[in-house]
Amino acid sequence: MAALAVAGCSDGAAPEADAADTVVTVVTVDATDTVEATEVADTAAPTTVAPTTLPPTTLPPTTLPTTTVAPTTLPPTTVAPTTTLPAVLETREIGRSVQDRPITAVRRGTPGGRVVLVVGVIHGNEDDGVAIIDLLERVDVPAGVDLWLVESMNPDGQLAQDRHNANQVDLNRNFPADWGPIGVPGDGQYAGPSAASEPETQAMVAFVEELRPDLVIWYHQDLFRIHPGRGRDGAIRQRYAELTGLPLVAITGGTYTGVAATWVRRTIDPGVSFIVELGPTLSAEEADAHARAVLTVATEPN
Ligand SMILES: [Zn+2]
Repeated sequence: MAALAVAGCSDGAAPEADAADTVVTVVTVDATDTVEATEVADTAAPTTVAPTTLPPTTLPPTTLPTTTVAPTTLPPTTVAPTTTLPAVLETREIGRSVQDRPITAVRRGTPGGRVVLVVGVIHGNEDDGVAIIDLLERVDVPAGVDLWLVESMNPDGQLAQDRHNANQVDLNRNFPADWGPIGVPGDGQYAGPSAASEPETQAMVAFVEELRPDLVIWYHQDLFRIHPGRGRDGAIRQRYAELTGLPLVAITGGTYTGVAATWVRRTIDPGVSFIVELGPTLSAEEADAHARAVLTVATEPN
């Protein structure tokens, strides 16, 4: 990240409103495809194909690799070498910034699996999470995880190395969860003129409402901590902290209205959504540990 004059971004201590955290992850299976396949099979004319015209066993099994994981960056104990799907299933523009830059989501893993969303940058000058996203775009994704990666939801601020978007709004005070006015344009936590006033916020709101992720992780800097949570959300935070060496310590001192992670928890009940405050810098080893932690908490029953 660029040098910050302030001591951290003071994010994430939004009210922990979730009490009912007992619901277990549900893996959604798309039954529509099965039904359609059955219907097609039923309507096909019966017994018109002489079985002798079909040569047996014409598919060479050697075209699909059995193992696709390069073990050099991630230990095999945390990344299951199971997928034979393309590395990137889909790249989608989910919106545009104030200055008309694309906000892009990359999809990897298993469609229909547990939906996990990772956002690398929301505050433009807190962008070390990009290194974690870059790793997650390359490593093998364990089976059963429908992984979506948004490298930056604030491309204008990232380019300018500014916390805000190009309207001088703190996007992490602009989400429609307890939104309230804070400051004036240019103030550190200026919340914008109204809830979800900013195109970047609107893009993410629409995307999350469509995606309905079970787990969302947001990277910030540079407080080097994770704010403790409760219930299932809190357990996953604790696990992530253990895996990465971040302490579970409260984030205090700011005004925490309009926070993205809070909005997700309230919108996707019982979804898990939390902020990871990286330190002022992120080494390659730390980035690797965070990428592994994402895939671990995404894969473990929790
Ligand atoms: Zn931040």
